[in-house]
Amino acid sequence: MADKLSVLKEYFGYSEFRSGQGEIVDSLLSGRDAVCIMPTGAGKSICYQIPAMLMDGTAIVISPLISLMKDQVNALSRFGIPSACINSSLSMDEINFTMLMAEHGEYKVIYVAPERLETNEFSAMCKRIKISMIAVDEAHCVSQWGHDFRPSYLKIAEFISGLNARPVVGAFTATATREVKDDIVRALKLSSPLVVTTGFDRPNLFFSVIRPESKLQKLNELIGERRDKSGIVYCSTRKNVEEVQEYLSSKGFLATRYHAGLSELERSANQDDFLFDRKTVMVATNAFGMGIDKSNVSYVIHYNMPKDIESYYQEAGRAGRDGSEADCILMYSGMDVRINRFLITKKDDNPELTEEEQDALVQKELERLKIMTFYCTTNECLRGFMLKYFGEKADLTCDKCSNCMENYTLTDVTVDAQKILSCIFKTRERFGKSTIIKILKGSKEDSIISRELDKQSTYGIMKDLSPQRIRLIINYLEEQECIKEEGTDYPIIKLLPKSYGVLRGKLTLSMKVPKEAEPKKQTSDAAKSRTGVQKGIDRELLDLLKLLRKEISQSEGVPAFVVFPDTALLDMCIKLPKTEDEFLQVIGVGKTKCQRYGERFMSVIRQYCD
Ligand code: ADP
Repeated sequence: MADKLSVLKEYFGYSEFRSGQGEIVDSLLSGRDAVCIMPTGAGKSICYQIPAMLMDGTAIVISPLISLMKDQVNALSRFGIPSACINSSLSMDEINFTMLMAEHGEYKVIYVAPERLETNEFSAMCKRIKISMIAVDEAHCVSQWGHDFRPSYLKIAEFISGLNARPVVGAFTATATREVKDDIVRALKLSSPLVVTTGFDRPNLFFSVIRPESKLQKLNELIGERRDKSGIVYCSTRKNVEEVQEYLSSKGFLATRYHAGLSELERSANQDDFLFDRKTVMVATNAFGMGIDKSNVSYVIHYNMPKDIESYYQEAGRAGRDGSEADCILMYSGMDVRINRFLITKKDDNPELTEEEQDALVQKELERLKIMTFYCTTNECLRGFMLKYFGEKADLTCDKCSNCMENYTLTDVTVDAQKILSCIFKTRERFGKSTIIKILKGSKEDSIISRELDKQSTYGIMKDLSPQRIRLIINYLEEQECIKEEGTDYPIIKLLPKSYGVLRGKLTLSMKVPKEAEPKKQTSDAAKSRTGVQKGIDRELLDLLKLLRKEISQSEGVPAFVVFPDTALLDMCIKLPKTEDEFLQVIGVGKTKCQRYGERFMSVIRQYCD
């Protein structure tokens, strides 16, 4: 009888499980519910696809994004796994046909959107077929406290309890906070599930935060350094998406765009252009990407700061899914904070929540925004910052983020901190950051003079420091819990008990301060070296294999990475397989793909070696 390892090798062409995968597979196979918390790109899909292959019946995979289901089905069929999707993008005839085939037990996996569970036809069909398992993808959508709540997810438990026999349930997410995890267990009514949380570190990702004077110019530079690579540029608004895409196109880049304001037709055409490598840059809002398994995305640039670390890590994590070195670059500006704050506080109310719950939700979102801002302004290791946010331990430095690559000096900022804190204290905790900075800088603006703030004893006492540096120290004080912001529309700074220790000289504060203002040179040099092809790989052969992959991808109408990911082509260049057995040793080559494509790739390799 087949076991999980032979399915992994035979279908997916991988020889070993990654951390946590084996445990989840075992749990589901033994009938025990499971919650699988892994970062984007860690390999959650295999955790339900393998049990689906080994269990009797059909697995139902509930996923929020219908636009991607076709791609998932295409990819699975290339691995030799019979699957289908049922969603509103199909015609009634297609849906009926798929349901008929499902009743004949033709599929091991069926993808559906949560809304589908509520339709009579679908739930009636589910009572007639044998369901091996329910897999809930992006399970954090069930949590009202999470960053991506979808009310339709709340109906999943009801659907499951309405089935003739309760199948085992697996929940999958990349969101790791305790609250969300508890919500998943509760709202999906999981019964004593095995919870597996793997490390959130993605060692192949390089993180950096930059504050360019002109974001567009910087983007031009960054993408210019990565011309032959595929990447995503995330913007916070539709307007930004359009501007940035137009700008990049005018500079000769193959850029396309994606946001919710475009027609369904354009969205899917643009998405395909990107997936099929006809366009190399996707400029998009966060509407793009959930579930996207384009494995060769080698950079993700955030043109605007996202609203929380969860979103950032998920979006940035779309880079380097194939394990290759990739860059995650965030362009920060203070304006992004204000826009996000506006979007959070002015958002339409959720009718499913009471007014109090609504307020609590806004507060939570503002809290998350603040931590996101700290990420952008911190001088600590960026990787460590995020890992700690997800509840993990992290080394002091990673040597693979812009902060660790830069030259910092540990500077005693106690005196500066005292000046800031006493300014807040003497103005009786009535102002926000910008006003405090203006007072300290001795600004002559009307808003300061008309309120007689120039009469304050702290007026102008930090005029030698740049406003950015003062803000950096204020943010640091916030991070150190000496002060906090209160209020949503016009947040004001309040002192916390710890600040009195600093004011009385009982506490000293040291902060990592960059030696130069814009010393990101090393980052982009390091990026350049990473954008080259791996050492020891024959570039010419790789190009020939890519050409063949492109031909196949075009004739079959699937993205190139669905035929083979880059990692498989690179491994072919190393192993130079000439027989079927050798071809099966290549990473990412399973039986079906070997039969389907092996001969054609080997013939290119043979000819080349001859
Ligand atoms: P997630 O859903 O967690 O974001 P995916 O399931 O899409 O991630 O997997 C990301 C990539 O990792 C895919 O290209 C997948 O084929 C690959 N992968 C998954 N498991 C393994 C494994 N055990 N060995 C090698 N590659 C793997």
